[in-house]
Amino acid sequence: MEFRQFGVVRRLADRDHWKASWDAHVEQLCLPIPPHMQFVEMHWQDGLPPSASRLQLMQPDPPRRQVGGRKAGLALLSSFLYERSAYYRGGISSPLSAPDACSRLSPYLTFGCLSLREIVHATVQRMEQLHDDSLASKHPSATRMKQGLNAFVSRLYWHCHFIQKLESEPEIEAQNMHRGYDGMREHDWNDAHFQAFIHGRTGWPMVDACIAMLRETGWINFRMRAMLVSVASYPLWLHWRQVGNWLATQFLDYEPGIHWSQMQMQAGTTGINVPRVYNPIKQAHDHDPKGIFVRRWLPAMRKVPDLFLFEPWTMPSDVQLACGIELGRDIPIPLVDLDAATREAKAKLFAVRGQSEVKAAKSAVVKKHGSRSSRGTKRSKNDAKKSKPQEPHSSNDINEASQLGFDF
Ligand SMILES: Cc1cc2nc3c(=O)[nH]c(=O)nc-3n(C[C@H](O)[C@H](O)[C@H](O)COP(=O)(O)OP(=O)(O)OC[C@H]3O[C@@H](n4cnc5c(N)ncnc54)[C@H](O)[C@@H]3O)c2cc1C
Repeated sequence: MEFRQFGVVRRLADRDHWKASWDAHVEQLCLPIPPHMQFVEMHWQDGLPPSASRLQLMQPDPPRRQVGGRKAGLALLSSFLYERSAYYRGGISSPLSAPDACSRLSPYLTFGCLSLREIVHATVQRMEQLHDDSLASKHPSATRMKQGLNAFVSRLYWHCHFIQKLESEPEIEAQNMHRGYDGMREHDWNDAHFQAFIHGRTGWPMVDACIAMLRETGWINFRMRAMLVSVASYPLWLHWRQVGNWLATQFLDYEPGIHWSQMQMQAGTTGINVPRVYNPIKQAHDHDPKGIFVRRWLPAMRKVPDLFLFEPWTMPSDVQLACGIELGRDIPIPLVDLDAATREAKAKLFAVRGQSEVKAAKSAVVKKHGSRSSRGTKRSKNDAKKSKPQEPHSSNDINEASQLGFDF
């Protein structure tokens, strides 16, 4: 007997009625925990709970990771529903605002401290309350919160949508989702690139700062995860499998179904998503224009004048001397020229993508893994009452959705 944890269906024949099945799953009642199964406080031998590394979950245990357990998860859910959701839309892309604007519930879902269904129920209840509050103009942020929660529920749906891919085809953990991409990167492994990546020494400040934050906290926001994988997959031309294995040991919320589907999506090997290549310099301009984030996580960058914030490797030697920085020692020099290496990588990818047999095989991947939503269905204002998750393309948060490269 297996209790169904998420809206994922075992032995699914096809995706045609999957969304209806997800709705039916989350709409069921949340049953109270039977008295004989109530949670008990654990008392550890040495007074401390075992670390994630001792349990061999993460190596090493990130020093500033989120606190585990149901109590901490419920507190986060509450602060998100009642305060932080006002900043969700517009706040989740920058690594500066994302740690507070995002729900931060992913590890609690991964470890089963909170159930997906109870989060959906609590969110819908809060949305109904906010709907009434905004009609009565009771709460100044009611509309923003409602919009944020709407986008949040969509992501809870995507959570299962992605896990379903691994359930339906477990091979995607190790093989390209579209086999036409086999051989594209497999024989080009460059260990110097990989070592620079995992040690946060690529020389691109935004990338290295994200790696530093990830190592320290075990979490980074979606856009920066996508950027990291894009940089590893395109200019550094690393295979997603080894990169994904390493990231899996760093993410506190490691969830294989989401992780491997996203790894392949960002590396361009699903065959059904338009490849999206993130430029780490542009991401820094857009999401950390004053360098607050990179200077927080890369102490050497604190000495770099603003003029060279985005491309410190262009600092002339007299400037290096004046600010006490030596390129190559304090700040790494990029291993490749970003523009040239990205151009070359895109050319290789699009050469495979353009092959007629690769194009022909795409429909089989869409049939197995693609979502079946009807395009462009707009939701009315009263839809908060109905609680149905939005498909990414009908979401108000359309920019974030297209950034996800969702397969529609
Ligand atoms: C390369 C890569 C690897 C990833 N690996 C994981 C992973 O191992 N585990 C994991 O939980 N998420 C993963 N994600 C998705 C996403 O980055 C995280 O779910 C999110 O950052 C977690 O923070 P949060 O709970 O504050 O998210 P919120 O934005 O508050 O979202 C709420 C919940 O929705 C789900 N969710 C959010 N975004 C996505 C998404 N794009 N796809 C599927 N579900 C989503 C998660 O369960 C999340 O907890 C990955 C993304 C990328 C690009």
